[in-house]
Amino acid sequence: MKYELVIGLETHVELSTDSKLFCSCGGHSSPKEPNDCVCPACSGMPGMLPVTNKHAIELAVKAGFMLNCKINQYTTFDKKSYYYPDLPCAYQITQWFNPICVDGCVDLGERKIGIKQIHVEEDAGKLVHDEATNTSFVDFNRTSVPLIEIVSRPDFRSADEVITYLKKLKSSLQFAGISECEEGAMRCDVNISVRPEGSNELGVRSEIKNMSSLSEIKDAIEFEKVRHVDAIERHTEMLVQETRRWDDVKRRTFPMRNKETAADYRYFPDPNLMPIVIDDEWLEEIRASMPATAEEKAGHYEEMGIAAKEAGVLASDRKLSDTFDKVVAMGCNAKTAASWILTECMGQMKRLELTSLEIEPAKLARIIELVEGGEITRAAGKKVLSAVFENDVDVDAYCEENSLSAKIDNSFILETVCKVIAENGKAVEDYKNGKVKAMQSLFGCVMKELRGNGSPDVIREMLEAELNK
Ligand SMILES: [Zn+2]
Repeated sequence: MKYELVIGLETHVELSTDSKLFCSCGGHSSPKEPNDCVCPACSGMPGMLPVTNKHAIELAVKAGFMLNCKINQYTTFDKKSYYYPDLPCAYQITQWFNPICVDGCVDLGERKIGIKQIHVEEDAGKLVHDEATNTSFVDFNRTSVPLIEIVSRPDFRSADEVITYLKKLKSSLQFAGISECEEGAMRCDVNISVRPEGSNELGVRSEIKNMSSLSEIKDAIEFEKVRHVDAIERHTEMLVQETRRWDDVKRRTFPMRNKETAADYRYFPDPNLMPIVIDDEWLEEIRASMPATAEEKAGHYEEMGIAAKEAGVLASDRKLSDTFDKVVAMGCNAKTAASWILTECMGQMKRLELTSLEIEPAKLARIIELVEGGEITRAAGKKVLSAVFENDVDVDAYCEENSLSAKIDNSFILETVCKVIAENGKAVEDYKNGKVKAMQSLFGCVMKELRGNGSPDVIREMLEAELNK
């Protein structure tokens, strides 16, 4: 019998706010040392009252817009009670009864994935285990950092669909400034079951946690599919609804605990927090502040004369598109700027194994300006770019120090041309015997002597004139 996968995702995303969800401690990117971003409110001291972070609510609404959700204009916070040492209040503030966004969808091209809801909640702290002293420490820096949990419907049918969705989600969230989605800021739990192909029933479900990369998510799904099918067909084990942990070293999942039901968490409205009413005016304000989506950006780039494929690459990454937008705003021609970013900058990123483009747009714009204005050659431009990537040098100072000006004295070029002709008798003879390629090798020698300086057109002209004398 053939089986199909039925997968739903719960994706936790840290919001890019300056402060925590219910107090003024710094947000996720602030802490340096353990417990240096903690106050009486977020460490659960009795009597402290939470105050909701307005920016977190706005970012959650933005996420709802991105994922085509209906925004609940009346939304509330609830307490989810459970005990764990990284949770100082012994409850987590989340949204159970009135989540902020519902009923959205993500378009994966051939298929659409339904979004059941997006809710806002606070993160828990972190336990740090020290094997050497056999001690566990608690770090409350992450406690109460705002998260959204994006709950999909069980609409995925393969690991590949899951990966495509997560990549798309990440790029959309980064684009809209909702989350940086850096390592650890986007975590995904996978609810998975299998059923005979064509059936409408749902099988026994397991929830898998603890995957830290897309490839681990994929591996965990593939592992679970085999485990479930074996259990059904060969009775290798009795499937129960449970939460399982992916172990990347052993390359398999292990049971963590039986799946809790809602009743275990004793959800109830948090009496310390007022309901949030998002009136039409506020909603429109948030809608108006939405940035262009990657698709809209790509369309805009195409209108600027960039080929569809290149426009797609530029728009798919926020750092690339930001740099492009800024360089163009500084007066560079769009096609030229796109070519420098996609060819030269990405070449440097590959060479230095960088995952994102880090260059001051003004420096790139200056290099392009110098090359386009004939002040330096393209080869010299690449040399400066490489120095900027490596040591963040000043563009003009670097050109000066390394005598990269293309406007060197023509008499010096002529001197070099004559020198190369005198030293390369064989190539000169070949050229005179009709071997056109010999010209290219002589040209290369001159360029080498001039260390990439001088206008290629002038050099070629002088070389031809001298050879034909
Ligand atoms: Zn705090």
